[in-house]
Amino acid sequence: MTDETALLSSVPTELFIGGQWRPASDGGTLDVNDPATGMRLATIASATPNDATAAMDAASDAFPAWSRTPARERGEILRRAFDLLMERADDFALLMTLEMGKPLEQSRGEVTYGGEFLRWFSEEAPRIAGRYGANPEGSGRMIVSQHAVGPCYLITPWNFPLAMATRKIAPAVAAGCTVVIKPASSTPLTTLAFAALLEEAGVPAGVVNVLTTSSSSDVSEPILADPRLRKLSFTGSTSVGSSLLKQAASGVLRTSMELGGNAPFVVFEDADLDAAVEGAMAAKFRNIGQACTAANRFLVHESVAPKFASRVTERVEAMSVGRGTEDGVDIGPLIDQDALDKVTSLVADAVERGARVLAGGSAVDGEGTFFEPTVLADVPADADLMREEIFGPVLAITTFATEDEGVALANDTEYGLVSYVYTESLARGQRMIERLDTGMMGLNVGVISNAAAPFGGVKMSGLGREGGAEGIHEYLETKYTMTPDPFA
Ligand code: NAP
Repeated sequence: MTDETALLSSVPTELFIGGQWRPASDGGTLDVNDPATGMRLATIASATPNDATAAMDAASDAFPAWSRTPARERGEILRRAFDLLMERADDFALLMTLEMGKPLEQSRGEVTYGGEFLRWFSEEAPRIAGRYGANPEGSGRMIVSQHAVGPCYLITPWNFPLAMATRKIAPAVAAGCTVVIKPASSTPLTTLAFAALLEEAGVPAGVVNVLTTSSSSDVSEPILADPRLRKLSFTGSTSVGSSLLKQAASGVLRTSMELGGNAPFVVFEDADLDAAVEGAMAAKFRNIGQACTAANRFLVHESVAPKFASRVTERVEAMSVGRGTEDGVDIGPLIDQDALDKVTSLVADAVERGARVLAGGSAVDGEGTFFEPTVLADVPADADLMREEIFGPVLAITTFATEDEGVALANDTEYGLVSYVYTESLARGQRMIERLDTGMMGLNVGVISNAAAPFGGVKMSGLGREGGAEGIHEYLETKYTMTPDPFA
């Protein structure tokens, strides 16, 4: 199925609670629009605080049976979900492009990436392990076991509508937890379609519940205050994450926080420039620059900066802007008018402070929220875009003279999600692993995301890791049991 209307009419529009699709308790709705045209795609249920409590009831009722379901069975359900998702990859890709705007080819890439969390955690479920051994004194035996944390609340952002959902749901379900998930109000359709797929794959009623709403704060409040909730996992901005942490503190909830970034992309004088340009294009323009891992500051050694700038400018000038469904489009729309206004003002601020525009530089006239792919050179250290996430297709170049200066600039941010480093020196690359304060690094690569890797940041970029062998532990509690010496 590739027809847009047919696809949209197949997507559920109601809340998914306890295995039932149902309208909001007050009949409220919210519209979902295509950012490329501003046109309405669908009208869906908008949950109320009462619906939130109903979803917590369902997640809490389903937890005892689900946490005791054999791990192999949980894994096999996730594996079926992976297979179904791969069968319907084109539908999910189109749905994401429609509601979020990214080019179709990148949406297909997200289906592959997002799907891998289902396959990875289907394999991790049966590997949840414990240990048994004598205490050092020999007077007893110690048992360490792993247990599902309990009902979890998952909040996801709009920029990766599928992958941010699977990155949380798959490890939670694999661990034996039940969840209530609240997708972003601008891109809820992918999560609704994915919940229907999970139901078809055999996820029992109440294990995954979906609340879509235009009142995220009001709906989240009763959930976060509910003593049955054991875990909050959030991906989104640092400001919202920090306020949710405060709310989570009163219930002493376990939390995973995947927050904002301000990634430095450091190009040393000994870099392979072809590779650096290739990596820069991917690290900057994938997802229209709207990724937490997007390179935000290009810190380029002064000896190679002019060449790097002219090479990326040539590439950027050849990019095509348009609706993500059209063939050959590299840059789709930004998510909404606020995002467009923010990128416009960040560029204006940088130019006012002395940055030179080498390509693009403006919003695109006409319908939709498009911003031209842009290259800025000589961006001064005090420009706002050096401190804030640009979240748009703007490649901002600053120069440095020495390794120490490059490192100081790279670390001069409250964020610490990811850094990118281009150097042909092995020793320098190793030094950067130790000197750059980020949870992840791309060393001579511009894309790092992988379901098998522990994704996450330090400083204001968050707490915890998603994916990899670490990912399932965010949803497992460690229990220690002491027993007497069986020979005594
Ligand atoms: P956001 O505004 O923080 O929203 C994220 C989610 O939180 C949405 O579902 C939103 O719902 C919800 N929300 C907002 N205010 C809330 C409140 N008071 N109580 C409960 N929920 C609330 O972030 P965004 O603009 O969607 O996403 C962009 C940000 O996410 C960027 O900072 C980016 O770096 C970050 N991000 C981080 C990662 C990572 O892994 N580190 C990955 C992707 C994105 P509504 O849609 O209804 O507002």
